[in-house]
Amino acid sequence: MADRMAPRPARSHLAAPERALPSSMWHMTAGARVETPEPDDMISTGILVIGAGFNGLTAALRLAECGADAVLLEAGEIGEGASGRNAGMVNPGQFLGPAEISRVLGPEYGEVFLRELGAAPDLVRDLIARHEIDCAPDFRPVIRAAINTRTEAMLSGQSEAWAKRGQPVEMVRGAELQAMTGSRRWSAAMLDHRGFTIQPLAYARGLARAAQKAGARLYQNQRVQSLTQENGRWIALTRSGTRVTAKKVILSTNAYTGSLAPAFSETLVTSGAFGVATRPLDRASRALIFPQGHSFYDTHKIPLFFRYDPEGRLKIGSLGFLSDGAEGIQRWAARILARHWPDLPAQEWSHVWQGTLGLTAHRMPRLISPAEGLIGTIGCNGRGIAPNSYFGGMLADITLGRAGPRPLPVEQSSPRPLRALQCDALDLSMRIYRNTFLKS
Ligand SMILES: Cc1cc2nc3c(=O)[nH]c(=O)nc-3n(C[C@H](O)[C@H](O)[C@H](O)COP(=O)(O)OP(=O)(O)OC[C@H]3O[C@@H](n4cnc5c(N)ncnc54)[C@H](O)[C@@H]3O)c2cc1C
Repeated sequence: MADRMAPRPARSHLAAPERALPSSMWHMTAGARVETPEPDDMISTGILVIGAGFNGLTAALRLAECGADAVLLEAGEIGEGASGRNAGMVNPGQFLGPAEISRVLGPEYGEVFLRELGAAPDLVRDLIARHEIDCAPDFRPVIRAAINTRTEAMLSGQSEAWAKRGQPVEMVRGAELQAMTGSRRWSAAMLDHRGFTIQPLAYARGLARAAQKAGARLYQNQRVQSLTQENGRWIALTRSGTRVTAKKVILSTNAYTGSLAPAFSETLVTSGAFGVATRPLDRASRALIFPQGHSFYDTHKIPLFFRYDPEGRLKIGSLGFLSDGAEGIQRWAARILARHWPDLPAQEWSHVWQGTLGLTAHRMPRLISPAEGLIGTIGCNGRGIAPNSYFGGMLADITLGRAGPRPLPVEQSSPRPLRALQCDALDLSMRIYRNTFLKS
């Protein structure tokens, strides 16, 4: 199992390769793998989707539901990229608050973005219910705790702004918050009732089955190594020799795009994000740490994330590649636990893993179409479950020429100068931040 999910090397010169680590804890509870057939040598289709994360899978699903002929190629297995490795915290929109989002996108796109992406967690709920996806949704609201008075004021402002827009977001403080976290470390937090948690790999597999049922043709272990245009058709050649021709292509490879499509990959700075999980906690330990079962993240520049999985493993996560190796990160996580929950007995660890994130300069996703018939969204800046579940459907609609709300302007590409240097500098600064501010 671990081998088939073995990821490609991390992008940074400083970062440890992703493949050095075992697969994530989500494999333990994701149920059966999705079966897909071997492709023919030559495939012709209306629309080709590349990448089987939430973005590509919801695109393929929408295309098939609209009666379009859709083929999806995935380099590894369903959920191989960030979608099968994330923390499973379904949050609306982005890390930015409503005022910043409107400032970055302008009032017109900003308004549509706030409305559509604010409702994206409901779309995830709906997809789960409609396709009976067994992915352990837990609808307890998500806590975002302030680490100091400055970020408390920032969260209060965001919370008020969301509440004014009729969104179920509130502040919690003092004893009420301590009862939720089991720690005295935080005195104020935003409680977002739109958010919830899922088993992300199971959600990806459920979307894949729904897309197959609707008529999309999905193929795994089909890495596209070239994408070219000939006589108005796109031609994708896979490493195993399959040739797919299509009228249009939706590129859903996001932070894993690499050299396949520089217009997409050069717009992003990539970063790592990781998870480290305990063995299932006993009842006494669970009573000490997040005793009400909430999921949590904080306002550190590189946030700390906590949540339980359906079997009671506590998952701790943060940003950056795991250059310190699995044991280094377990020691780091043990220190975090001891510092925030001094009464908690030392825990044993079961899994350590990492994935790759795409970050944009303005911290918002981008909608890129560098050539006629080729389109994709990239850069969810660490918040991509609900957004990509939305963007996949939106990309399908655009490709089919269907009218609909557009929360982002279409750009040709937005390459970042000195990108490689920025990636390495970011990785180094995250490592320093993690090993000073987060654990001291
Ligand atoms: C550790 C971690 C924790 C996170 N936690 C959260 C969270 O709690 N909440 C949240 O909202 N977001 C979270 N995110 C972000 C979220 O997971 C992503 O934004 C989202 O999964 C991206 O989905 P996607 O479909 O766009 O891309 P991906 O899921 O990355 O899918 C891209 C796919 O393209 C495939 N691919 C790449 N190149 C090729 C090729 N040449 N040919 C064929 N296929 C190819 C890859 O194998 C991959 O499967 C986290 C991310 C990470 C890494």
